[in-house]
Amino acid sequence: MNRLRNMSVALMALGMMCLTGCGTWFGTVAADVLVPVEDEVELGHQLSEELAQELVFSDDEVLTTYAEDLGFEILEHADRTHEALEFEFHLVDDPEMINAFAIPGGGIYIYTGLLNAMDNEAELTAVIGHEIAHVTRRNIAQRLVAAYGADVVAKMALGEEPGIVGQLVTAVAQQGFMLSYSREQERDADEWGVEYQSAAGYDPNGFITFFEKLAGRASPPTFLSTHPTPDERIENIQSHIDELESPGTRLEEERFLQMRDRIGAEPVANGNDETDSDSEEDSDSEEESESASD
Ligand SMILES: [Zn+2]
Repeated sequence: MNRLRNMSVALMALGMMCLTGCGTWFGTVAADVLVPVEDEVELGHQLSEELAQELVFSDDEVLTTYAEDLGFEILEHADRTHEALEFEFHLVDDPEMINAFAIPGGGIYIYTGLLNAMDNEAELTAVIGHEIAHVTRRNIAQRLVAAYGADVVAKMALGEEPGIVGQLVTAVAQQGFMLSYSREQERDADEWGVEYQSAAGYDPNGFITFFEKLAGRASPPTFLSTHPTPDERIENIQSHIDELESPGTRLEEERFLQMRDRIGAEPVANGNDETDSDSEEDSDSEEESESASD
């Protein structure tokens, strides 16, 4: 418990330096003090074991390896200050669910339904970059502390709070996400996410084309349940992209569409909520064609 006392002292010191609010920087540093990365990783192990019982993973090895490879490719260009984080990429088999989420420690879960709502790797890597950023920026540690307090999180890491671990797993099973992030954290993860994907050579405008599709939908997918509106995010990311020195240009559309075909479900048409309706085969249509909602 000595460690907890040291943490409290350190946090008080940080608090005194930041009386007027130090925003995201303060949040990141506070998380580093309150939840050692090693604790977050330990908790992640418990959660990943439980999630393996709850979620159905894709049994398509080609598709699974593809998602993993793409994840690790973006990760190579992410901030790896916290070397102890253990990133893993899982492909969840649910072609109706437009979703992805990250768990403590670096486990990232991508749903086949997310791929099904996209048209190229620039879009997919934008979301992967965003989820990686939630981990590298310690957003997850911050949310855990906000929700449960630092001492409970330390106990969770030691396996002493199985009830709360169960709650987090239930949240994923029922809602498709584990922790709600703040608006500021979402914005931060959006910005860092496109930095990572662009550094890997991918066109950061993939973020915008994907969110334009989501904005055209009558009801928001799970992925957006805890997020600011697509319009706000597009506006913010557009100005961020404008500031990038040499943004990436890769789309990898052909390779992506071959992989998407393997899902074997009808792609989710832009702006169309009826997943089983007659979606038009217009995924390759010109960019200027508006994604009208119906
Ligand atoms: Zn997010």
